[in-house]
This record gives sequence, C-alpha cells and structure tokens, in this order.
Amino acid sequence: MSERKTIRRAIVLAAGTGSRLAEAEYDVPKPLRAVAGVPLLVRVLRTLESVGIREAVIVTGYQGDAIRKAIAAEPNIGLRPIFVSNEQYLKKNGVSLLAASEYVDRECLLTMSDHLYSPELVRRLMAADVPEGCCALAVDRDIERCFDLDDATKVQSRAGRIAQIAKDLEIYDALDTGVFRIGPDLLRELALVEARSGDCSLSDGVQSLSRRGRFLAADVGDVRWIDVDTPLALQRAEAMIRVFGDMLGDEPGAEPTPTTEPEMLELFAPSWVRAANPYREDHFELAERNPDMVRLMSNESPYPPSPRVIAAVVQAVTRGNFYPGGSKTLRQKLAQREGFESSHVLLGSGSTELIDVIVRTFVGPGEEVLLSVPTFSMYEARTRIVGGIPVLVPMRDEQDHDLTGIIGAVTERTKLIFLCTPNNPTGNKISEESLRRILRLGIPTVIDEAYVEFGDGDTYSRIVHEYANAIVLRTFSKAHGLAGLRLGYLFARPAVVSLFERVKVPWSISGLTIAAASAALDDSLEFESRVSELQRSRAILVDGLSKIRGITAIPSEGNFVLVDVASLGVAADRFVAEAQKEGFLLRSLAVHHANRSYVRITVGTPEQNAQCLLAVERIAKRVSNPKSSTFGIWTSIGDAE
Ligand code: PMP
Repeated sequence: MSERKTIRRAIVLAAGTGSRLAEAEYDVPKPLRAVAGVPLLVRVLRTLESVGIREAVIVTGYQGDAIRKAIAAEPNIGLRPIFVSNEQYLKKNGVSLLAASEYVDRECLLTMSDHLYSPELVRRLMAADVPEGCCALAVDRDIERCFDLDDATKVQSRAGRIAQIAKDLEIYDALDTGVFRIGPDLLRELALVEARSGDCSLSDGVQSLSRRGRFLAADVGDVRWIDVDTPLALQRAEAMIRVFGDMLGDEPGAEPTPTTEPEMLELFAPSWVRAANPYREDHFELAERNPDMVRLMSNESPYPPSPRVIAAVVQAVTRGNFYPGGSKTLRQKLAQREGFESSHVLLGSGSTELIDVIVRTFVGPGEEVLLSVPTFSMYEARTRIVGGIPVLVPMRDEQDHDLTGIIGAVTERTKLIFLCTPNNPTGNKISEESLRRILRLGIPTVIDEAYVEFGDGDTYSRIVHEYANAIVLRTFSKAHGLAGLRLGYLFARPAVVSLFERVKVPWSISGLTIAAASAALDDSLEFESRVSELQRSRAILVDGLSKIRGITAIPSEGNFVLVDVASLGVAADRFVAEAQKEGFLLRSLAVHHANRSYVRITVGTPEQNAQCLLAVERIAKRVSNPKSSTFGIWTSIGDAE
C-alpha cells in the first residue's frame, strides 16, 4: 500500500516510572537506563531512525526534564525529537498517547521506550497491508521464545485481526511486541474511554477498535525483540546485544558482527574470569632457554625418572590408542599403603587439578575460602576463577598458622579451608592439635601434604577416618620426581570422593602417567634413597646458608629452604636476578612480607647445592648493603608455586 512509505513520525511513550526496573542505586528514569552502555530510549530512537523515521514525538512524564536533557545531549541521533509532557504519568499508558494527540493527525508508528527490537520488525510492520481506517500491532507468534510469558501482553487473533488483547488471556496465539501503526481513530477511541472512566490503557483503545475488526495483528516473524522491564530482562537484553549486536542481528543493515575483535570475546566471560590473572610461566621459559642454568625455583626433584619408571612409560605408550587404563590398580596401591580402600582415593592430573576439582565442588560465586598465607598460589587462583572469595589469614610470624585468626575468619559463607603442611614456602608443619581444632569446625578442609615425604615421615592421612571433612592431598611432583608427568591424588571418605568424581573430568590422567606412577611406587628403594639424600642435602644447605653473613635460613620440612636476605639490604627480586647471573634460578617471594626479602631455594643434588652455596656467598658479598630491618607481618596473597 502507498502510505507505508510515508510513515515518518513515531510516537514514543517514555512517561512512566518504570518501577519494576527501578533500583535504589540507579537514579535515572527507565528510558535512560543503559543497556550495554546505551540508554534504552537512545537505542529505540536509533532503530527508528534506521528505518526512515524523521520525527520522534517523545511523551515524557516522570523525570521528563532529565530525559529531554539526555536526548538533547546525545550526539548520534539524526531524527528530530519533539517532546510532549504528560503530567498524569501515574495513569495508564493510553493517557500518555492522548497527550500526543495533536501529532497523530495521520498514520504514525507507536512504540514503547523500553522495548528493544530489530529494525526489521518495523520494516515488516510497515510492509503489512493495513486498510484505511485500521491500525496494526506487530505481533510475535513464536510464543515459546518469550522468556517472561507471565508478564507479556497476549493477543488472540482471528483472520489476521486482533480479537482480544490483555496480559491475562487464557487463550492466545501471539504476543504484543509493543510496536504499532496507529492513526487518529485509535486516539478517538482512547479519548472516549478516558472520558468515561478518567483513565485508559492502550489495550482499551486496541480492544475498542478490535471489536469492529479494525485492528490488525501483523505477524513480524522471527525478528528479535524484548520488553526490558525487569532487571532480569535487562540482563537478557544485554546478552542479546552482546551476541547479535546493537541492531539485534538485523541482516539487511549488513552491520558487522559484534565479535570481530577477539578481545570482544571477553564480554562473554563472567566478571571473575575477566578479572583473573593468567598463570605466568616466564620462569619455566627462562629455564628452557637456558638449559645450563640450575633449576632451583619450582620445588622440582633434581633427579630424572628412574630406569624402571622410564621402561614402564615406554611400555604404556604402546597402548596409546586406548583410553587410559590402570587407574584402579594404582588407586588400590596408594590406598593399601595407608590403610584405605581404593574408594577413598581420587587421582588428578597433578594435585593442582584436584585443588581445582575441590574448589569447583564446594565453592560458588561470592562464597569464601580460608587460606593461611603465605602459601601455594593455586588455592587462591582457583577460588577466584569460580567467583569465590579467598579470605587470607596472615601467619603470625614465619612459622605459625594463626589459629585464632583462622577460626575468627569463618563466616556462614565459608565453604572450604586450605592448609598446607609442610607449608610452601615456609616449610613448617601444622600441629596435630591445631589441625584437629580446625577440623572440628566441620568445614571441608584440605590438608595439602605435597611435601610430606620430606618431613619426619608422619602424615595426617589417618585423620580422614575420624573427620569426614578432612581431604588429604598428595602429589607425585615432588618426592617422586614426576612433576612433568602430572599426577596428584587425594584421600577422603568414599562419599566425598564420589562427590568430586561428579565434578572431575574423566580420563584427565594419561596412561603413561599412570604407568609411571605405578612403577615409581614399586621402585621403593630408589625412592627412599633419593628422599634421604635430599633430606641430607637440605640440612647441609640450611647449615651452609645460615653461615653466610646477612642470610637467614628458615628450617624446612619440604624440599626447599626459605631464606630472608633483608639483612643484606637487598630486595628479593634483586637477589634472584643476581643469582641468575650466577647460573641459578631461584624464586622470589618479594610480595609476601612487608619488611623481609624472601627467596626460596629448592634443594638440588649435593653438587648443585654446594655450587649454590658458593654463589649465594658471592652474591651476599657483592650486594651487601646492611640496614636495620624491622619486624613485620606476612602481608599478602599466596604466590608460591
Ligand atoms: N601443593 C603444593 C603445596 C605445591 O607446592 C604444589 C606445587 N608447587 C602443588 C600442590 C601442585 O603440584 P602438582 O600440581 O604438580 O601436583
């Protein structure tokens, strides 16, 4: 029909209070609420402009001045805004439309200011064949697609015309999209209703014309639209814009897809993922680039896998076409050594995978995980990645967990506690008494014994029989020397293990790793001699370090020694840089303590340790610039690895 090209004016209803979207923190009227950074009304005006509308008669009411100012200040609006005020904005929306009566002297578009739709919706409505004296409503017949059906205005149509329209219709075949083609006839009907009852809704007017078969239901097909009137709808609208772009996936406009920039994909990630820092592997890269440097930075074993382990791996690789087998036997072996059943054991791709599984099992966004810091960095990192909140309780001094502090930090949101014993990087064990006190809280508690084999031989694994909330974590990366093959395990009650099994990815441990670990367990003589050699070396290293002026070595039950270089008057990072010049890779724990300079040295072979001692001595002489150091408290986040 000819008129359809001549619709150049739209009436936009923007008068209401939008109470369901109102939140105390937003002091803006609903039409100005930002959806993906752009106010709703601005989005509507841009859509109208894109389909050839030249004038938008905006009916304001609640905070009308704010709306006028905002639109006047908006640079990217090409159509002419005309403002009409409806002082009776607390009445129904038909009264708002009546306020714009003088502008409805011909066929116009009518739209809500809080419905977003693609331009194609308007194009299809404009293309509908609407006889003289009739109005039309754009309707969506894909009812399933509506995500807030309770709140939607329903339409019952007959032969393409509206028969009934209301929110609470029982029988209906379409939904009201909030976009209309209207003319003076509708205004006349509304005026009559208003004159009779003092108020009128748009639906009243539509209903009156429908009774005479003069309101069409124009099916706009599969275009996207949404009524943004609740916080949930707003989130949904933002997701639609993120995926389909500002014009909601409108094809004819040939808008570039919104995700052409790889960085844009970040918008799909929850805020806690966006805020996370990736794990930095610089020190590994440095070590790989410099194979002659001595790796004493990551608490690895200086000994390569034994010939028996290597033979087992070579054998296992011949079965590489099959999914990994052997894990049941390995679990049995591990269980038997400590008086458990295989159902008490869960294997992971490194104990880091198990830390991740435990966190994902218990912790949701906003829930808390207690850590005694400084400690292994992954407890905090994996907590953050699920939106959990790490609660860091600083140790009382270099050696002691702050038991009162830990217990005092428990809240109703606490879901998990991590205790590392012997602790990385301080090397100290938690006492059984303290451990029991914490376990009595009943909160799931991980007892990470990554370094237990280097200690006095005593493990806390038996405590699992007593406390169902105890989870004992171990790794093959340290004493067993298989860090590169990635195997960790935990002991917990069978019910707890099966909870974790729901979360853990199956087959995450390769058959080669299972074979290597099994062989390493069988190679107990080799294991014992290596561990006792490392223990002896540790004692020599601690002793040697303590004799160097300006160096304080902290006794350790792990395969590492923490040293404080503060008395040299040098920062930990500088010390580590100096060590690199000497051919040694050490780990700086600079961020951990306000008034100390901590460096962690992994115990190497006797030769490496002897060389390292000489290097430390040289560095100490070179950099020594003593100044008094005051006592402080552990400060910050766990960053040891
Ligand atoms: N726990 C502690 C205390 C650690 O220090 C480490 C590694 N440095 C791990 C767990 C993780 O070891 P993996 O993932 O290699 O088993």
